[in-house]
Amino acid sequence: MIIEVRTCHNCQSKNIVRNGKNVSGQQRYKCKDCGVTRVLDSVQKGRQVDMEQVNQTYQERNSFRSTGRIFGVSHVTVQKWLKKKARSLAPLKATIREAKADAVLEVDEVFSFVLLKIKQLRIWIAQCRQTRQIVSFFIGDGSMESCKRLWRKLPYSYLKCNSFSDFYP
Ligand SMILES: [Zn+2]
Repeated sequence: MIIEVRTCHNCQSKNIVRNGKNVSGQQRYKCKDCGVTRVLDSVQKGRQVDMEQVNQTYQERNSFRSTGRIFGVSHVTVQKWLKKKARSLAPLKATIREAKADAVLEVDEVFSFVLLKIKQLRIWIAQCRQTRQIVSFFIGDGSMESCKRLWRKLPYSYLKCNSFSDFYP
């Protein structure tokens, strides 16, 4: 039988007790002497994560939280990873394919973000129905002016497409 003696990382006391788990399921301990609560042996330390797998998991429409659970890290860590990845990507304009003659655009407002809703901001997107590629976006409010700004950002070849929207004709 192996008895592991754990000590507080803050004051080296052995007087520690289990104190629930954090969001990614790691055991937390509380020191009864100094009151500090933390994970003593983080599994993230020295751990190799395949970033391609993280990206794939997220692109399969898993949320930050569910991606975090899969890789045993917090959703904040997942956000950091993906932001870093996003900065290394080519700009949107460079990746848009030319519109085909029968291409159809779907225009929508996305306002599922609580923080943006408070600030009355909305993300406008124009998506090609055939390729599912987002060809233009604009962050503004719910006004017609925002809609026009989105329109002005459209690549030239998409301006002649049929377009559909729930909001405006
Ligand atoms: Zn302590």
